[in-house]
Parts: sequence; structure tokens; C-alpha cells
Amino acid sequence: MQDKLDWIARAVNRQRLLETAQKLVGVYSPTGQAKAALDCLAEILRRDGFVVERHAASYAQAPAVVVRWQGKKPGKTLQFNGHLDTVHLPFVPPSVHGDLLKGSGSSDMKAGTAAAVEALRALRDADALDAGAILLTAHDLHESPWGDGSQLNQLIADGNVGDAVLLPEYLSDVLPVIGRGGLTWLATIKRDGPPVHEVMRPDEPNVIAVGAELARRILDLDQRLQDKTHPLAGRESAFIGQIHGGQIFNQYPQECWLEGTRRWLPDTKRAPEIKRADVEIELRALTLALANETGTNIRLDINLMRDAFVLPDHPFVDAFQRAYAAVSPRPEGEGLGVRGLPIGAKPFCDDGNSFWALAHVPAITHGPKAGGAHTLDEWVSIDDLVRVAKVYALTALEFCSS
Ligand SMILES: [Zn+2]
Repeated sequence: MQDKLDWIARAVNRQRLLETAQKLVGVYSPTGQAKAALDCLAEILRRDGFVVERHAASYAQAPAVVVRWQGKKPGKTLQFNGHLDTVHLPFVPPSVHGDLLKGSGSSDMKAGTAAAVEALRALRDADALDAGAILLTAHDLHESPWGDGSQLNQLIADGNVGDAVLLPEYLSDVLPVIGRGGLTWLATIKRDGPPVHEVMRPDEPNVIAVGAELARRILDLDQRLQDKTHPLAGRESAFIGQIHGGQIFNQYPQECWLEGTRRWLPDTKRAPEIKRADVEIELRALTLALANETGTNIRLDINLMRDAFVLPDHPFVDAFQRAYAAVSPRPEGEGLGVRGLPIGAKPFCDDGNSFWALAHVPAITHGPKAGGAHTLDEWVSIDDLVRVAKVYALTALEFCSS
């Protein structure tokens, strides 16, 4: 292990990694419009001597970037997967402040993707990959609600998937072994008649009253869900984030709408899509019953964020933990490979959920120390990007020949 670590430590180039991260952050790429950032990455990789494939993966506006790097002998394929789209906020250009790189996507997750690219280069430059292969994928359409994960889903369906996956999202202090699935829902209640003064009110249901009743039933559902809990991932939930209705104080309202989320735990006995279908059916039954009782139209729009996530016991997890421990600083006198990351939950939905739900491939979300995701003040630690590049490269050496 020490030999491998020495090769990798020599081959990871901090300046090259930082320049790649700065270039990617420097390209404005809100979700759905990440073509220029993907083109930029493709060009960087091509200049670096890699053979770059572009795959539309059902989104030709921004073809995904795919690179394959073969080791000397057959073995397992480790995939590094990143998204280059960012949430829809004003563009913040890259800037370096001491150990911090700031700017749009520096935390989520262009700099992490640059660390994965650096791991790939280090493996090549050190001529270190004896067996197996690396598959690097980068894509658009990650961030909700502008994206729905469909480009990655298509990449997976097309077979661009490894035997295990590393995802450089901004989670560095726990090894996430479980994560809740999530959907957003939007319920719109309507009555048929035209707008009218409330003193002339027709014999039609009051949509605000129906909205209030729907809110009460969703909150009751949330109460019933409180027993569905997991020590790491927390509990299932039904949540209301906003409710709106009516135009002015004395006009009989025509429309009321509510919007929120539903989050659920993985079910080890059932397939992810079956569990999700149950969750959707429960919500639809609840709104349909209310619509029938009140004589209103209730339209329910549901958008899947991601299915629930599980990281199984798998040799990949051991390989990652050995690599993590070898790279991480440890107390004086402690040997190599002693401490892996403590296990924990994944607080958000990410592409790892899709790899698990669609392909049953183990995926570990592990990225740099970073913060400010989904804000105008994103930052990432450059030193920690270097650490992540080493962990990724060393995990490949541990896993691909296993
Ligand atoms: Zn992300």
C-alpha cells in the first residue's frame, strides 16, 4: 500500500488539478445548459491525450463526456461520475483565496469532478493501473427541478456504467451507506365557475377550504410516517413548503395550490421502483378521495428527485476505506490503513441513488471539504481536492485488480 501511495502522491499534480477546476468553474453552465462546460472538459481531456467520447444520452443539447482508461490486464471497472450543471443562480466567476477556490459549481461539483480527472491522469502518468479500467463520465441535467437525472439514467441504460462508482459531491466526513428517496408534489385545486364577488358566491366548493383540508391530511400522513425511521437516515416524511389561494379578500377563490416533498427510506424487501410506486399511490389516493368528497378537481403533479439509496456490504467499500485511511493524516504512531470514514447517511439525493436503483451498482459519494452549495458563496478546499484525487486513484488500485 505504501508503494502505491507513493506513486500516486508523486503523480497527483496540485497545480494541474486547480487549473482544471478553475476552467470548469469559469464556464457558466446552469442545468440544461451545461454544453459549454462539457465541451471545456472534453477539450481538456483531449489535450491531455485521452480519447474522449461524446454521448447524447437522450439530451443532444449537451452531450455527456465519457473517457475509458484500460489497465494492463482485465479486471473491474471503477467509474468516476460528475455533473457539470449548476443550480440556476447568477454566475460567480472563479477566484482563489488562500486554500479556497470560490465560484459557481466550485462546491457542487465542478472542482470535485476536476479531482476525479486528476486521479485519472495520475493513474496514467504513474502507469499504475495493473488491472481493470477507469470509466470517467460527466453530464448535465442533475439539479432539480430544472433537471431530472434523465441524462445519467440514459448513460446507465446504454451500459456506460462501471462495477462501482465514486461521486465527488461535497460530502467528506461520513461514508454514506443509506439515503432517503424523494419526490416533489404539487396539488392544484380548482372549481369550475368564473371569478365572482364573495357575496354572490355560487354553490361551489371553497377551494381554500379544500386546500386547508388537504394540508391537514398531508400533515396527518406525516404523523403516521414518524414510525418509519432509521437510526442513520432519519424518518420518512410528508412536507408542505407552500400554499397559495385566491386573488383578493372578497373574491370567491377559483384556485388553491400546495407544494411540498415526500421522502422515504429504502425497503430491502422490495425493488426501489415498487417502493416509490407505493408512495405515489398513497398520495394520489389521498387527493382523489378529497376531490370526490368535495366535488373539486385536484390535479396532482409528482416529480421524482431520486429513488432511495443503499450501499451494500461490498469489496468496493473495503477498497475505498483502505484508500481513505492510507491517504488521511493520522495520529503519530498509528499504522497505515487503520481508520476508514465513519458510516453515516446521505442527506441529499444524488446520482448514487440512480446507480443503485437502476443498475444495483455500489456507489460512494465522497468529495472535498466544501460548502455553500446552492448559494452564491460556494467554496472548496484546494488541499482537500488533492486528497480526494489521491483517494480516488488509490481506490482504483485497490478495487480494479480485486
Ligand atoms: Zn451536485
